[in-house]
Amino acid sequence: MAKKILIVEDNLQNMDVIEMTLGARDYVLVKATDGEEALAVAGRERPDLIIMDIQLPKINGLEVTRKLRKNPAFRHTPIIGVTAYAMKDDEEKVIAAGCDTYLSKPFSIHTLRDVVAELLSRRQKDNP
Ligand code: MN
Repeated sequence: MAKKILIVEDNLQNMDVIEMTLGARDYVLVKATDGEEALAVAGRERPDLIIMDIQLPKINGLEVTRKLRKNPAFRHTPIIGVTAYAMKDDEEKVIAAGCDTYLSKPFSIHTLRDVVAELLSRRQKDNP
C-alpha cells in the first residue's frame, strides 16, 4: 500500500514544490498549512511520515512535534523538520523537539526524496 505523507507548510509555493517532488513517487499526500490543522489532519489521517515546517502560524512546528510525540500513536512516526535558516541552534531545537532529522531551506528535491525514502524504510524494518 502507498505510504501516506503529511506535508505541513504554510508557504504555498514551498508546498507545491514538495508535492511535486514526492507526488512523482507513489505516496498518498495530505496537507496542512498551520499548526492546529497539522494536529487535526495527523489525528484523522494517521500519516506514515510527516514533513514539518518549523515556522508556522498558530502553533509552530516545534510545539506541534512535541504534542505529537506525547501521543502514543505518533511516538515513532518519522518527522522531518524543515527550517528556514541554516542555523546551528535551529538544528538542535528541531531534534530536541522530537524530529528524526531536519532539512534547511532551500533543500534539493533529491535530498528530500532520499531522506523520505530512508526514514520510511527504516520504519519498516523496525515494524515488520
Ligand atoms: Mn513557514
